[in-house]
Amino acid sequence: FNKIHSAKEVNIFTDIGNHSRLHSAINLAQNAPDFPMDSRLSQFLKESAEKDFKKFASAPALPILIENILQFNKRRENPLFITEKEISIIPGATYGLHIAMQALVQENDEVIIIEPCYETYLPLVEMRKAKPIFISSKDNSPLEWSVLEDSITEKTRVIIVNFPHNPTGKIWNKEDWDTLWELIKDRNIVILSDEVYDVLVFDDHQFYSAYHHPEIKERCVCLFSLEKMFYLFGWKTSYILASEKLTAHLQSVHQYICFTTNLHAQYALAKFLEIFDEKENRIYFQNKRDYFLTLMEDVPFTISEKAKSGYAQTFDFTNINSKISDKDFSLLLIEKAKVATIPYSAFYHDEKNTGKLRISFAKKDETLEEAVANLRKYF
Ligand code: PMP
Repeated sequence: FNKIHSAKEVNIFTDIGNHSRLHSAINLAQNAPDFPMDSRLSQFLKESAEKDFKKFASAPALPILIENILQFNKRRENPLFITEKEISIIPGATYGLHIAMQALVQENDEVIIIEPCYETYLPLVEMRKAKPIFISSKDNSPLEWSVLEDSITEKTRVIIVNFPHNPTGKIWNKEDWDTLWELIKDRNIVILSDEVYDVLVFDDHQFYSAYHHPEIKERCVCLFSLEKMFYLFGWKTSYILASEKLTAHLQSVHQYICFTTNLHAQYALAKFLEIFDEKENRIYFQNKRDYFLTLMEDVPFTISEKAKSGYAQTFDFTNINSKISDKDFSLLLIEKAKVATIPYSAFYHDEKNTGKLRISFAKKDETLEEAVANLRKYF
């Protein structure tokens, strides 16, 4: 076996999910929404099942999906300047991260990972036999640019950046991207920009993509998620934006690993993009966040700031117990309060006692109400 040396045998989401099932707990750990998909989508999927896509089976994407991604982008508040040659359809963002790493990184290259971060970044760096360089912020403090600058060496090939951010919900603005550009412009570095929560930005905050930035645009691979956008976890169909030159590299890797993705899902998603109302969706999730935070007022956890984006909120539990590891506390809550959450240490490679939990609010109101009632009873 090829062991990925720092990765856990079973990732935290599976681990907590299994534990949650074992104790019949309510799962607020995974972001996967528990409400039904939009009935119009099931209609499009039925329509798609009747189509014969044989003539497209040898193409990497359905033209209608590429076209509708372009059209959807044009309708957005702050559209990007993109052409069809800059879009790759992929089976999910995780896969996209992998082909980007395959295309960009070689053995002994250095890849900068900014923590806290999504748990998959480290294993995929290790699978390339590249060297992860961590920049960690232990609390909610902003990235220290001088630390990032000092971490860049001749060997740095990729910096992985994730905004809107999982788990903190932070968002970068134009000035942040400008600062990053100053650090990389004279170097051979590509930005791998994970933007899977791009449509889930709340309040008056503005989403600014790496692809909005006129210079970084030429030097980045941006990952998006149609699954997160339409909460269709498991459909595994999404897209990447990158310059034509980078797209050609990505697609040359993709053709030997997967070639194309499920054409029926591509069709249904393309049709749904035509009617998707981004603003309505954003308000729906923003209201969910607010409703959840109101319910949580009686639970003795604290928050440092409201999530500006995404599907989840981070809570601090140290005023209840400051000694226990976050994983043990999360297991305790599963067993005693019947509520599953993600220990915040999952977002670091070597951190155990963060005193925090990430809790997903992308659930039906009844699920949130029941879970919070359980927590209130327990405390
Ligand atoms: N990036 C981030 C920040 C995520 O949170 C996730 C999923 N939770 C992914 C990538 C992976 O997305 P997908 O499920 O489309 O592979």
